[in-house]
Amino acid sequence: MNKPKIVVLGAGYGGLMTTVRLQKLLGVNEADIVLINKHDYHYETTWLHEASAGTLHHDRVRYTISDVINKSKVQFIQDTVEEIKKEEKKVVLANGEVSYDYLVVALGGESETFGIKGLKEYAFAIANVNAARQIREHIDYQFATFQLDKNEDCLSIVVGGAGFTGIEFLGELTNRVPELCKEYDIDPKKVKIYCVEAAPMVLPGFDPELVQYATALLEKKGVEFHIGTAIKECTPEGVLVAKGENEPELIKAGTVIWAAGVRGNAVIEKSGFDAMRGRVKVDEYLRLPGSDNIFIIGDSSLVINEEINRPYPPTAQIAMQQGENVAKNLAKLTRGTNEELEKFVFDNKGTVCSLGDDDAIGVVFGKKVTGYKASFMKKMVDNRALFLIGGLPLVLKKGKLNLYK
Ligand code: FAD
Ligand code: NAD
Repeated sequence: MNKPKIVVLGAGYGGLMTTVRLQKLLGVNEADIVLINKHDYHYETTWLHEASAGTLHHDRVRYTISDVINKSKVQFIQDTVEEIKKEEKKVVLANGEVSYDYLVVALGGESETFGIKGLKEYAFAIANVNAARQIREHIDYQFATFQLDKNEDCLSIVVGGAGFTGIEFLGELTNRVPELCKEYDIDPKKVKIYCVEAAPMVLPGFDPELVQYATALLEKKGVEFHIGTAIKECTPEGVLVAKGENEPELIKAGTVIWAAGVRGNAVIEKSGFDAMRGRVKVDEYLRLPGSDNIFIIGDSSLVINEEINRPYPPTAQIAMQQGENVAKNLAKLTRGTNEELEKFVFDNKGTVCSLGDDDAIGVVFGKKVTGYKASFMKKMVDNRALFLIGGLPLVLKKGKLNLYK
């Protein structure tokens, strides 16, 4: 009898979790498992703000995929997914095609620009390892350039969006700037860091007391917040921002980081799947509606939180839980035992937002935490993600073991 072929697209949190769970649950003779990813490494998307600010080397945020997969059970293909042809049960890759019986789409998200002019051309998004490396290099270059032409705009950095990504990046950046000033002989007072947020508050929807803690800390470290102010355009000189219906004003900047939200992977819309901002509203088993063999998880999926009738925010936490759920259900399906599938239920363990390597805020199991305690928890959350994929060896190799800072 032919073995069913399970193809997993993307080796991020969702895809890698699905794969490592599948390789545990299924024997060599039960299924062919294929994992496809653009790079031969996995990166911790949740650590990219650190690599971008230059507080953590980019090699610390990634590891080789072959280190965590069982090669006797999983075939890894390094390639770029272009399109899913669901009628033909095929995936079109940049360098070929792959057929499947079951498909898990875990291709992550992309930066959402809302069609704002100039963002694609002149702003940076904290999107992957290559982007993080470029952001770090760009900021360094701006500081070095200032010493040659004395143009203070080179020392001005704008972060668009005060969601978790923007705030975590600012936490790292404000720790990095003093080091950069030392390295390039620059008076720290000359450096300007702006955060522009369209909503009336930083971290919209998060606990106000914790938001106050984060804002005060970042302001003390030199961040100037422009709240209730939207970025309208990005130009080679900086950003045009406006409060309400006011005339836009220019904030000059040598670096603009766009951290104002994500949408699903472009492959979703290219494949003709019904989506909202590139995210598919999946069924209770995380399947593409109307399909019994395509599962969509992570940032390209949309699951409604019934309590508030709004989608859960796309996070690594939900992506990993979805990966576990899909792996369990795929094991049942491939064995053909007619066992009932398990519905996906999100178990929200809380949110911790880092404010640099030495501080954080969070709500964990319903309790508020700040400072060292929160920072410790954030590192434990980061280490846990490594543990779930690669066990203790991966934690010892890549983990955040500097817990006493
Ligand atoms: P990803 O983990 O992004 O993985 C997608 C994978 O698909 C990548 O390996 C990519 O290379 C690959 N891929 C993409 N396109 C293609 C293609 N066409 N062909 C082949 N391969 C492709 N969430 C939390 O829960 N906690 C946090 O603390 C947290 N911090 C964050 C910090 C930052 C700076 C950012 C940007 C996000 C953070 N998030 C956090 C959100 C979290 O990172 C995402 O929700 C999570 O990564 C989504 O997982 P995923 O598996 O869908 O995608
Ligand atoms: P987000 O959507 O959570 O926040 C984006 C922010 O940008 C919003 O506050 C929005 O009001 C603002 N914005 C939108 N348009 C704007 C404009 N034109 N000008 C100025 N501001 C504008 O996006 P994110 O912060 O990138 O987070 C993406 C996902 O990743 C979320 O689900 C988040 O929960 C998750 N995440 C989690 C953590 C964590 O748990 N520590 C860290 C980072 C990201």
